[in-house]
Amino acid sequence: MEELTLAGSAIAGLLQEVFAADMTTAVGTCGNCAAAGPVGAVQVFRGAGIVLRCPHCGNNLAKIVKSDSRVWIDLRGIRTLEVTV
Ligand SMILES: [Zn+2]
Repeated sequence: MEELTLAGSAIAGLLQEVFAADMTTAVGTCGNCAAAGPVGAVQVFRGAGIVLRCPHCGNNLAKIVKSDSRVWIDLRGIRTLEVTV
């Protein structure tokens, strides 16, 4: 059985595909505890989709579900996302 819990850096390719930028170094601020840190440091859980959780409080930061031609992204748990352009 595959491991269901991953480091945030493990989904770098998926994030690059969705956001067209290196998101592992983007800084997200948790909408619950206000902790800020790189997306590559979040906890990642795999199931029907990908769930990114805050490593400080466990808040669901984002959910990503991908099919062959579409991606659904729920970012309601992130207060801000700072991306280098
Ligand atoms: Zn948090």
